[in-house]
Amino acid sequence: MRKDVRILLVGEPKVGKTSLIMSLVSEEFPDEVPLRAEEITIPADVTPERVPTHIVDYSEAEQSDEQLYQEISKANVICIVYSVNNKKSIEKVTSHWIPLINDRTDKDSRVPLILVGNKSDLVEHSSMETILPIMNQYQDIETCVECSAKNLKNISELFYYAQKAVLHPTGPLYCPEEKELKTSCIKSLTRIFKVSDLDNDGILNDNELNFFQRTCFNTPLAPQALEDVKNVVRRNMTDGVKNNGLTLKGFLFLHTLFIQRGRHETTWTVLRRFGYDDDLELTQDYLFPMIKMPPDCTTELNHNAYLFLQSVFDKHDKDRDCALSPEEVKDLFKVFPYMPWGPDVNNTVCTNEQGWITYQGYLSQWTLTTYLDVQRSLEYLGYLGYSIIYEQESQAAAITVTRNKRIDLQKKQTQRSVFRCNVLGALGSGKSGFLQAFLDKNLQQQRKIREDRKSFYAISTTYVYGQEKYLLLHEVMPDFDFLSEADLACDVVCLVYDVNNTRSFEYCAKVYKQYFIDSKTPCMVIATKSDLPEVRQHHSLSPHDFCRKHKLHPPQPFTCNMTEAPNKDIYTRLTTMAMYPHSRLRCMCACNRCTYCLCLNLLKLDLLRSVKAKLHRVVYSSSSTPPSTLYRLAQGSVTQISASLCQLTPRLPERCSCTCVWLPLFLFLLHVFTLC
Ligand code: GDP
Ligand code: MG
Repeated sequence: MRKDVRILLVGEPKVGKTSLIMSLVSEEFPDEVPLRAEEITIPADVTPERVPTHIVDYSEAEQSDEQLYQEISKANVICIVYSVNNKKSIEKVTSHWIPLINDRTDKDSRVPLILVGNKSDLVEHSSMETILPIMNQYQDIETCVECSAKNLKNISELFYYAQKAVLHPTGPLYCPEEKELKTSCIKSLTRIFKVSDLDNDGILNDNELNFFQRTCFNTPLAPQALEDVKNVVRRNMTDGVKNNGLTLKGFLFLHTLFIQRGRHETTWTVLRRFGYDDDLELTQDYLFPMIKMPPDCTTELNHNAYLFLQSVFDKHDKDRDCALSPEEVKDLFKVFPYMPWGPDVNNTVCTNEQGWITYQGYLSQWTLTTYLDVQRSLEYLGYLGYSIIYEQESQAAAITVTRNKRIDLQKKQTQRSVFRCNVLGALGSGKSGFLQAFLDKNLQQQRKIREDRKSFYAISTTYVYGQEKYLLLHEVMPDFDFLSEADLACDVVCLVYDVNNTRSFEYCAKVYKQYFIDSKTPCMVIATKSDLPEVRQHHSLSPHDFCRKHKLHPPQPFTCNMTEAPNKDIYTRLTTMAMYPHSRLRCMCACNRCTYCLCLNLLKLDLLRSVKAKLHRVVYSSSSTPPSTLYRLAQGSVTQISASLCQLTPRLPERCSCTCVWLPLFLFLLHVFTLC
């Protein structure tokens, strides 16, 4: 809202400008007036619109042209006063005053004008006949009013109109000649209608109307008032009310009616509540609220925001197939001034067989935008009306700024739910395939992706210890000499090489040594195209030896060349590594060196197998032996035993389970040997 309103009165001498001001202030007609009244300020609480208002007089005798021009440029609204009994003063309105004002103001930001016919007490007839053609000719004339300083007729009205012309201008809303709403106003009101139509059936039912009313005017509409409104629409048009609710047509009609009856403030209240400024643009405050982003923090959507986005999805998934068809996507983004998602989005998130973005994919894309560009996410939420529908102070209420990553590392735990994995590898090493496989696309499906629709991102969910997390894969363009800060900043790194290309591993080794050897970011080497024959890599160390030397996990074989959807374990492991960069996750490995591998090998030993067989016999031959934990363990296969061992130990994610299996294994072996 504006801070104040400045009203300037101009016109020929003796038309009664000073008298009008004095009459307003003293509420009586002054017989004697000075040439020019002092500037007066009416405090906010005594004006109808609660905005401090300055009223400025002009006198040709006392002021120079230069002073007049200055006042014109300072004014928010100008009253051109004429005397109804003085033809010449009316002629001067068009021959002198309007051109003079127009010359002094910008075309784009014209001040509203009000034509004031004073001394109405002196004549019987009205000057409107002469004035209406002028009003039609000049768009900047907001309204006209006949008044009398002497009878105090229409004096307060005049200043109220002036104030309203500034605070609730007609110009952006309505075209008086066409007698209809302006295009930009229709566009804004249509967006408001769509946002308020919570079930997206094209009709505002009583609930939605009440919600709308409460949001805009802080009070619900009484049931009778609601009926009255609908009846007014019914009387004036056939398809303004449908199924006892208001259609868009009816909604627009109501606003036209408000404006035609001089109740612009109603329409403006609605527009402003939905974030519009005087030019019917969404304000910066509404779209881009301030958000504090300390370094090493990331941005995520909070629970409320996801709930809201879910409701938006449900509202647009008309056929309830849990995916958005191109039509449905188009409909969803109708409240946006532009289409925010390009065709690459369909290759960034999960889609269904038709290639349509699924519910999961839709939420993933929002998560991605929020992670990579929180301002954009805020803007989009603004278009969808998040803060209005969820009654939040601003769109910023949708965002969680996570704790500094360094604190997470110190405390060895994290509250984050989005983790970023940068995928590095030489040209053609299979990075894109690795990204697309995360979206369930095998090689055959990937080959159908058009070049211009490829994406360098892939995001989807994985489950780590029962919690749903987002893993964001980012394919980094290979560059030997320079990887930027952004290329390196992530929670886990994938170094990808092609097992079938002798030159492929070199890049991984080089990048690792140059950027990650001393970094805290965990790295995983991925051996892609594992369906093809493995060739010797042109590097001093084989990938396996390289990994062993640098205490990395051994290269993980990976292929997306299969008929079914690719296996996704690797992505869960990457997410786990990103979440717990401290634990080395040996329990999942096959390195043959860690405790877990040693235990497993031990269990697989022939010696142990024979022990187990013996044990079996002992247990079965003595029917009196009650089934104990030992008995159950003996029943199981070797792998089952190892699984049981793992289960015996509490799974504390921060701790590696390998060390945890050690004790039960020891006890188990002790049991076995004492039995024998
Ligand atoms: P200004 O030069 O435009 O500021 O005009 P003034 O306020 O000085 O008024 C000029 C003359 O018109 C004075 O004699 C006022 O008393 C008289 N006057 C102003 N308003 C009215 C009105 O509403 N009715 C009548 N009858 N006379 C008015
Ligand atoms: Mg005067």
